[in-house]
Amino acid sequence: MCRYIFRHFTHLRKDNIKSVNPIQEPHRSGRVIVIGGGAAGLMAAGRAAELGADVTIIERMEAPGKKLLITGKGRCNITNSAPLKEFLNAFGPNGRFLYGAFHRFFRDDLLDLMRRYGVETEVERGGRVFPASDAAADVVAALLSYVNNGAAIKLNTRAAAIEHDDQGVTGVRLETGELLKAGAVILAAGGSSFPATGSAGDGFRLARIAGHRVNKLYPALVPLVLKEMGFAQACQGVSLANVRLTAFGCDRTAVPDMTINYDYGRGTKHEKPPVPMIESRFGEMLFTHFGIGGPITLLMSQAVARALDDGPVTIVIDLKPALTNKVLDARLQREFAAAPRRQLPALLRQLLPEKMVEPIAILSTIPPGRTAATITAEERHGLVKLLKNLSFEVKTPLPLTAAMVTAGGVELTEIDPRSMSSKLLNGLYLAGEVLDLDADTGGYNLQAAFSTGWVAGEAAAAFARQQ
Ligand SMILES: Cc1cc2nc3c(=O)[nH]c(=O)nc-3n(C[C@H](O)[C@H](O)[C@H](O)COP(=O)(O)OP(=O)(O)OC[C@H]3O[C@@H](n4cnc5c(N)ncnc54)[C@H](O)[C@@H]3O)c2cc1C
Repeated sequence: MCRYIFRHFTHLRKDNIKSVNPIQEPHRSGRVIVIGGGAAGLMAAGRAAELGADVTIIERMEAPGKKLLITGKGRCNITNSAPLKEFLNAFGPNGRFLYGAFHRFFRDDLLDLMRRYGVETEVERGGRVFPASDAAADVVAALLSYVNNGAAIKLNTRAAAIEHDDQGVTGVRLETGELLKAGAVILAAGGSSFPATGSAGDGFRLARIAGHRVNKLYPALVPLVLKEMGFAQACQGVSLANVRLTAFGCDRTAVPDMTINYDYGRGTKHEKPPVPMIESRFGEMLFTHFGIGGPITLLMSQAVARALDDGPVTIVIDLKPALTNKVLDARLQREFAAAPRRQLPALLRQLLPEKMVEPIAILSTIPPGRTAATITAEERHGLVKLLKNLSFEVKTPLPLTAAMVTAGGVELTEIDPRSMSSKLLNGLYLAGEVLDLDADTGGYNLQAAFSTGWVAGEAAAAFARQQ
């Protein structure tokens, strides 16, 4: 019906659309409406159309795949080469839900599909898989080619409610009041993050209207605002490559005197550490004008956001994780002895980036102007403690709108993991970030959107055929 709309956005990468299947006239067997033309919705529509269903995607924005275009800084990290168990672990306990979908459509199937539409891929550090062209637009173009198996897209069209009767879904009510009848509806309207891309939380509202429980939403993969912003502001822009961040569920005064030398958090193998520790990660972090960001901060942000519901959270930064307190103390002792007339800032310059020297000197108990020769052992021990346990209380994560992913969402026990069908409403299927699923960075979130989308598309096509 609205197939012609597809032609309006083939300009995304015309050279990549050479392999577009000529529009066939498959056996039409009942309409499937897909709400949302993002990663999950495009995949769902492509699969349902491939199976011969009459499919219409409703997309509220002027173009589909807007979020996909900005993923991986425009390069789109589509999946990860991690083994299945590790892959599922990246989602935490809810990862188990994905086992069924991944069994049906996983990484190799996704890469085959991409190849079918002209997108070759490459594996990078950490198993991250990107299109070889480094262009997210190629991934979007490939999905649109897949959609062109027969699905139509209605752009600038916003779903307001999923209509149903006693038997199940009957259609989708648009915000204009118009009713689009359907035999099956796939809800793939995304989360609440980066609303300018179109995913502004409608999916949760639509799921609630349809009777589903929506678990509390939290920002995930997001920077953290610190209470003591002054230090972060002074160090703004400093990126530290090999540090350890440990989050504790308590205020600064209650942080236990312990050295952590292992990673703990989802996707890691270490056993649960003693309370009040929440997570610990080694790697790269960044000071910003409001607090901390960078890869390891983003990784622990979801757990921190949840823990803030129960009380204060303190982040401890170990600036010298490769050295024990004893070894670091011995190093300081050596350096102080080698330069007895140097003052503290000059001594710190050998250990820290320039921008951190003054803020750390201020936090230390050593009075300004003192030379290395006059620094007492006690003061030196205090400096060691500061460098190994630089601690700040977290005020809040940045809001959902600034998060890469929305944690929380539609309660998974209400969804059949083999088909993504709603257990509450016949003919309703859910896929992608609207579900209570979120993972670490690395391509896991997109694979989940693609896999749940594919499974939902297949099941919805079969269901609509029976209508
Ligand atoms: C900056 C950024 C970078 C990211 N990078 C990566 C990465 O490299 N790798 C990775 O795995 N993940 C990444 N993610 C996460 C990933 O993009 C999402 O998890 C994924 O896009 C979710 O897919 P989705 O289809 O569920 O939702 P979306 O892709 O958000 O699509 C939902 C669609 O539904 C539409 N919609 C919403 N409401 C309505 C309505 N009422 N009516 C009609 N249409 C509606 C929206 O306009 C949107 O097009 C990134 C996220 C961000 C914000």
